Amino acid sequence: MNELTIFSPATIANISCGFDVLGLALDTVGDEMTIRKVSQKGVRITKIIGQNLPKETHKNVAGVAALALLAEIESNFGFEIEIDKRIKPGSGIGSSAASSAGAVWAINELLGKPFNPLDLVRFAMEGERLASGVAHADNVAPALFGGFTLVRSYEPLDIIKINTPSELFATVIHPQIEIKTSDARNILKTTVPLKDAIKQWGNVGGLISGLYTNDYELIGRSLEDYIIEPIRSILIPAFDKVKEESINTGALGCGISGSGPSIFALSKGKEIATKVAETMKLVYDKVGIEYDIHVSKVNTKGIKILEIK
Ligand code: ADP
Repeated sequence: MNELTIFSPATIANISCGFDVLGLALDTVGDEMTIRKVSQKGVRITKIIGQNLPKETHKNVAGVAALALLAEIESNFGFEIEIDKRIKPGSGIGSSAASSAGAVWAINELLGKPFNPLDLVRFAMEGERLASGVAHADNVAPALFGGFTLVRSYEPLDIIKINTPSELFATVIHPQIEIKTSDARNILKTTVPLKDAIKQWGNVGGLISGLYTNDYELIGRSLEDYIIEPIRSILIPAFDKVKEESINTGALGCGISGSGPSIFALSKGKEIATKVAETMKLVYDKVGIEYDIHVSKVNTKGIKILEIK
């Protein structure tokens, strides 16, 4: 095996109540990448299609994550990376994470799997550090583990894969406006009132419990964010309207995907998730903002192999 073509999924981080710790992987939207083992040592990004992104290894998250992996192993090979970029950078659905996670996952396969998934998260986080200045794991973890993931602890790194109820679907709308991840972080307060913290950790516990017991109503009740959403939602036009109408249409809950501007909703079944997509579209059609929209089952596998050579 010298070459792998993979699908590396888009991801929704935070999932309302779990800022920086919860995430989930999507099935219908993601990057395609080809990673090739070559005799020339080092890492080269040989092709990027779909988006205008840097090809220099140190400036591309895929290159940085790959170098972090290779720094921990003696390898007689080098690697070439081609990226078919289908997730727009800055969308809030883990564009950088898909490239970082995909690169390290495929290199690990080509090397005969010397590293475990937790190591791969650690390497991919270096790509996230390049993209946003913070080595967060809430997008790369679900891309690498699949399904829902919880970053229980950053030091030491402890990641738990959470059960995914089989009928859970996500709807994601990406209004075509730009929010810088750094701005979305800078406006946050650094302290939390105890009464809000109590509500928030109640919801994290409720969401995890609902995911394990397939209790869709409990999942819905727990999809509330008292800490980040009230501040960040100000940056997203018509956020409150999208949320209200999505829930009226039958979504279990609705919130900001990652640092935005994408908005996600979770629903029981594809039919409701598709209706929620129509509702979200109507809101932005009225406001006059263009968008991309995705309906996807939660992807429990994470990264998938498309072709082996
Ligand atoms: P997202 O939240 O969708 O991942 P970010 O804004 O966090 O988007 O990350 C995108 C940033 O990372 C951009 O500045 C982009 O230029 C940079 N970047 C570097 N390499 C890549 C890559 N392979 N894929 C996506 N973004 C990349």
